[in-house]
Amino acid sequence: MHDIGFDTARILVGGRWQPAAGGRTLTLVDPSHGTALAPIARGEAADVDAAVDAAQAALAGDWGRLTAAERGRVLLKTGAAVLERADELARLEALDVGKPLKQGRADALALARYLEFYGGAADKVTGETIPFADGYTAFTWREPHGVTAHIVPWNYPMQIIGRSVGAALAMGNACVLKPAEEACLTALAFARIAHDAGLPAGALNVVPGLGEEAGAALAAHPGVRHVSFTGSVAVGTRIQAAAAANAVPVTLELGGKSPQIVFADADLDAALPFLVSAGIQNAGQTCSAASRILVERPLFDTVVARMAERYRALRVGPALDDLDVGPLISARQRDVVEGYLALVEGCRGAQVAARASLAPGAPAGGFYVPPTLVAHVPPAHRLAQEEIFGPVQVVMPFDGEADALAIANGTPYGLVAGVWTRDGGRALRMARALQCGQVFVNNYGAGGGIELPFGGVKHSGHGREKGFEALYGFSVVKTVAIRHG
Ligand code: NAD
Repeated sequence: MHDIGFDTARILVGGRWQPAAGGRTLTLVDPSHGTALAPIARGEAADVDAAVDAAQAALAGDWGRLTAAERGRVLLKTGAAVLERADELARLEALDVGKPLKQGRADALALARYLEFYGGAADKVTGETIPFADGYTAFTWREPHGVTAHIVPWNYPMQIIGRSVGAALAMGNACVLKPAEEACLTALAFARIAHDAGLPAGALNVVPGLGEEAGAALAAHPGVRHVSFTGSVAVGTRIQAAAAANAVPVTLELGGKSPQIVFADADLDAALPFLVSAGIQNAGQTCSAASRILVERPLFDTVVARMAERYRALRVGPALDDLDVGPLISARQRDVVEGYLALVEGCRGAQVAARASLAPGAPAGGFYVPPTLVAHVPPAHRLAQEEIFGPVQVVMPFDGEADALAIANGTPYGLVAGVWTRDGGRALRMARALQCGQVFVNNYGAGGGIELPFGGVKHSGHGREKGFEALYGFSVVKTVAIRHG
């Protein structure tokens, strides 16, 4: 076990750090070495009950009494403290998630940016006055839902906490956060930082634990008025069903099989770094990873060859060595990804175009899968349809706009897409016709863009986080109509 610098085996309820009600713990694993990292509390339904009660008390008390500007100030102070402690947070994320330090640092800076954005926006969300019947004044308020639940995965804890908890707090909700059982150190560290910065007790409660225990109890809790879930389709649809039983709205940020589409007129030198980095970032464990590369046929061989060159130069190793790619989160995830790679052999026409190699001395117990580029995968094959959630990109040729669209839209997902072309009309036609929540033209931001509304269509989910949209999602409109004659 590592010395993390604080007692990690605690839940946070009503401003108090305490063991889980059942006294049980789980053990986090350091994916770079495959060894035990730190204990965390195994929260259960009783802890969720206590956390929801504490959140309700905060809404009725100190937290609920703050003005929008005061809430914003607390978030801004928290953001400044996150910025000051970015290196420390990056190290925790590297140990816990296995991401190279530079990626952990980018995540900490993104968390700070979310807090700045939502802190600044807290007092800028207004209602409207509505021209109504003669003798009436009608207007709207945007009110918090009340207690909001935030169930987050392990792949980008800081960014996802920033965009969901940050926006929810800005609108005056009180939050119960359920971080992932595989990685939750930065969730715990963030809550400490927020309280030190003046966040009133109970405004943010943190209950680590297993999904099927703490997570399920939270999603189904009758005291919760909104559920924000980021994770897999299988769990997301279960969460939606649980919330439906309480008639509660949900935001679902689910998976993806996002394409980058390279037309023959593209600026290839500009595209290449994005084509590769958006696929291997965080070892491909990114919901918006560009896991499919579609290339117009005349440029196909060139793109594959130039991507392969980059793949061969990638360095893969332990997170603290801060190379290009770290390990996967767990042995289970490594096995899933290797299972997909085993399909290449039986996939007609497909071939491995390049494979990165492990840095000498990478710990044998770590969960490493060197990035692999697979060319000529037929669009209907599982490798081109399913979210692999590892450093594997498939490259396929297309002929013209209609073909590109058919392939790009031809999966159950619809999260992000990238279009590379010098033809402005084509870029706009593609942007309109692509079935997804975000389109990047001549760039690609896997996970990026604090200001940019983000979310999916189809199996990638519904509802929007990031930007101002999240503030609307984390609030509800009340209409007031006054008859005064
Ligand atoms: P997961 O669905 O297994 O777990 C996510 C969270 O849900 C964890 O906190 C987990 O404990 C909890 N959970 C699990 N079972 C539960 C249950 N029965 N009831 C309530 N909560 C439960 O997902 P994962 O494998 O940890 O994360 C990877 C997935 O997340 C990928 O599909 C990825 O694409 C997706 N993701 C999406 C986004 C996005 O913004 N669209 C961002 C990051 C990750």
